[in-house]
Formats: sequence, C-alpha cells, structure tokens
Amino acid sequence: MARVYNFSAGPSMLPESVLKRAAAEMLDYNGTGESVMEMSHRSKEYQAIFDRTEALLREVMEIPDNYKVLFLQGGASSQFAMVPLNLYRNSKKADYVLTGQWATKAYKEGARYGEANVVASSKDKTFTYIPDLDPATFTKDADYFHICMNNTIYGTRFTKLPETGDVPLVADISSCILSEPIDVSKFGVLYAGAQKNMAPAGMTAVIIREDLIGHAMDITPTMFNYQTHADNGSMFNTPPCYTIYVAGLVLEWLKEEFGDLEHMKAYNEKKAGILYDFLDNSKLFKGTVVKKDRSLMNVPFVTGDEEMDAKFVSEAKAAGFINLKGHRTVGGMRASIYNAMPIEGVEKLVDFMADFEKKNG
Ligand SMILES: *Cc1c(COP(=O)(O)O)cnc(C)c1O
Repeated sequence: MARVYNFSAGPSMLPESVLKRAAAEMLDYNGTGESVMEMSHRSKEYQAIFDRTEALLREVMEIPDNYKVLFLQGGASSQFAMVPLNLYRNSKKADYVLTGQWATKAYKEGARYGEANVVASSKDKTFTYIPDLDPATFTKDADYFHICMNNTIYGTRFTKLPETGDVPLVADISSCILSEPIDVSKFGVLYAGAQKNMAPAGMTAVIIREDLIGHAMDITPTMFNYQTHADNGSMFNTPPCYTIYVAGLVLEWLKEEFGDLEHMKAYNEKKAGILYDFLDNSKLFKGTVVKKDRSLMNVPFVTGDEEMDAKFVSEAKAAGFINLKGHRTVGGMRASIYNAMPIEGVEKLVDFMADFEKKNG
C-alpha cells in the first residue's frame, strides 16, 4: 500500500506513527480487552486517557492554571455562537476583525446576540492580507475582541496581536493550534476544531480564562454554556471520546519528535519556506498573499490560468499529491502543510511543481 502526500485543509493528514499506534491499540487498548471506541466515558480507563490528553495539551501549550480546558463537540462553528452567548456579560458589545470566511461567520453569530462591530476587514482584496489595527478605533467597553488567528482558506495569519488592554481577546486557532507557541495568558478564550492540526474531526478544544465562565446570557442553551462543561470536566454528556484519545497520541508524537512548540515552529517555518521560496522564484506559479502575512500552515497559489490550475491539480493527484485544489471561493491551489506533513512531502511537491513548470511554462 502506498500512502500519498495529503495537502487537505481539514480533515487533514495525521502522523503515520499515530495511525499505526491507534491501529495497534484498536482491538485491545492497554490490556483492557476493549477498543477505546467501545469504552464507557465514565470508566476509570477512559478517564485516564482523557486526563492524559488534557495534561499533555496543558504542558505543550503551557496553559496557565487559571484557564480551563474543555473538549467539546459541535466544531469551531459552534464556538462562533458560544463565545457571544457566554461573553456578552456587560455592555453586550464586541469587536471583530474580518480576515476571511470563518472570521465573518463568527462575526455574524456575534451580531445576533449583541452589538458586534467590525473594526477592520481585508475583504476589499479577497482577504489576502491582515489589516492594520489602530487601538483608537477599538470599542473601549467591549465585552471581547475576536480574531481568527490563521485564515485557513486565504492563507494569512496574525503575527502581531491587537492591543486590547482589559478587553478579553478571543481567537479562533483551529488551523494553527500546536503549530507554534502561543502566549495563552494574552487571551480570554482560544478555540480550535481538532481536525486541522490535532486529531480527526469531532472535538473542539476550548481554552478559557476562569473568570469568563459563569456569565452566560439567559437564553443560552445548557449545552452552549461553558459553565456546564467546566463544572462537569467536559462530561456533562458523552464527550468525543475517540478523538480525544487520538489527540493524546498526536501530542505525545509532537513531544517525542519535536520536544516543544518552539521546535515545532522552526520545522514549520523551514517547511513553509521551501514552498514560498519556490513560489517567489517561479515564472508559472505565484502565491496570493501579502508576504508579511503569510500563513505557515495554508499556502494558496495560482498560475493565473484556470485550465492550467486544473491540469496541475489533476496531474499532481496522479503523482500522489492529493487535495491541492484551492477553496471553492478562491480557486487555484492550496497546499495545507500542517504539523504532520513531513518536510519530504513539501520537497517532493516543489520538485513536482518545478517539473510541471518546465513542461508547461
Ligand atoms: C475549519 C475551520 C473552522 C470550522 O471548523 P468546524 O469544526 O468545521 O466547525 C473554523 N475556523 C477555522 C479557522 C477553520 O479552519
């Protein structure tokens, strides 16, 4: 069996050693005679798996003690609503920066329950840059300030955080969690769907400062109240058990292979650098994003000719480089190179692109 290089934006590739370990433990987890898939979430065996994943995430991300870690269902998209429902606790105002489709979806949910303000947007240029932010334009009494840290579809990322003072900063880190260090103490809430850089689909990690829990609006459904999950160790109802287990394996892999997030970042910079260097020197392909705002995780590029793009995507697929088609709203190509993508995958992709350019340039 030949494994391909999978450049999917999510669900995305997982480290091969993690898949092998999950396979080896599939029928009999650690001498229990059962699969993790079959375990009661109330069992002592499963609680140990859950606790280990949380402890590893806390260790790797250096999460301070005054933050709760929740493993929820409903995807990052549910957080678009959970954030306003729980954080609109005083002025019922919030600031949003529109840097792409996910940020815009988050804003729309924020606007349903309070006064959501757009402080900046990069929609004028198809979200190909991160707008400059002027703190003088921020809402002084906002209940929170929301950003999408890495814009999966457009391939941009924040490299400098907005100066929000006492206003809690909230960030969607679905496509950059674990890719580089994040100073958690600068945020009120961080959230991420697992299926980009952490595990298979099904789980959303929420990292929330404790003082922001317990102020949900009256209309908040029980399942959308952070307090419900904080008070019950994410087990008010059945958590996404198997995904939490695989997230633990991925965190162990990250520690063994890279040690910490500084080293993970260095590896990701090297990987992304290979692809961006090629794009900057290519006569056929070009990157679509302003250089200073380039993502380490998602790299969109185009030839400028739709037929050529389609030819490239199809020939790349035949050569074992799959899921390179760009998002339907952007066109062209996108290579998502999350933590699990080995450097050889990017080197081989660049070789393939150079060869394609020779034949079609
Ligand atoms: C994929 C993605 C989402 C949506 O995640 P779901 O888990 O499918 O709801 C939200 N935000 C970002 C930045 C994403 O990359």
